[in-house]
Amino acid sequence: MYSKEMMRRYEQAKKSYDKPVVIVTQEEAEAAEKGFSDKTKTWKLKAENVRDFGFATSGKFIRDMQAVKMGDRDIMAVSMYPKEGNPLWEEYSTKAVAHTLRSYSSHTFDYPYPKAISVHAKNQGMEYPMICWNYGRPNEDGTYSDRVKYGMISVIIHEVGHNFFPMIVNSDERQWGWMDEGLDTFMQYMAEQEFGEKYPEAIAPNDKYPSRRGDPAKIVPYMSGDQSTISPIMSNPENVYQLGL
Ligand SMILES: [Zn+2]
Repeated sequence: MYSKEMMRRYEQAKKSYDKPVVIVTQEEAEAAEKGFSDKTKTWKLKAENVRDFGFATSGKFIRDMQAVKMGDRDIMAVSMYPKEGNPLWEEYSTKAVAHTLRSYSSHTFDYPYPKAISVHAKNQGMEYPMICWNYGRPNEDGTYSDRVKYGMISVIIHEVGHNFFPMIVNSDERQWGWMDEGLDTFMQYMAEQEFGEKYPEAIAPNDKYPSRRGDPAKIVPYMSGDQSTISPIMSNPENVYQLGL
């Protein structure tokens, strides 16, 4: 699929530890989206120690990648997005993926998979082993609000984070919600705060990443609210009134 030039960039990205390298440029993606080939091609995909899978394919994808050192291994942090995601995605997606791998691994265990991919989605986010879909689309004129920017960085941290909980540890999220969304949201808060410390220019003029959850004070209204809607932590998530809290 890659041209010689793209292969050269791909090899360069595999050794780029401090910032992403664009492998398929916006210009190349815009040319590719104008027409698709009617030829077919068979791909065989293999992954070890996964319990689910997802994939994404589009001629519209711009693609960038960087490496993350994990012990003696290099993990690839990858983003795939259409031009509609820019300029936000080229700036923050892969940075957020790489940061999540470093932050979660430092607090728990080394990320065992060879890559982590963030794919642009128009709405919401969803996680699969090594690949997730994340929202965050600028306005048509390329401007975007802080709400969209922080929402995007947070959802990428959250969905990449789900690799650790529940996927790699392989807990049953339908039985134990706190081991899935609970642990992941807790880790997400720490990773967000560390993102603000590592990239202060990304959060200026705030002195702290504006996390939606995680500060102890933010749980007080819930804990001091209507006691009949508060469930014990060891509850099946289908029996919880306000799962997020
Ligand atoms: Zn989640």
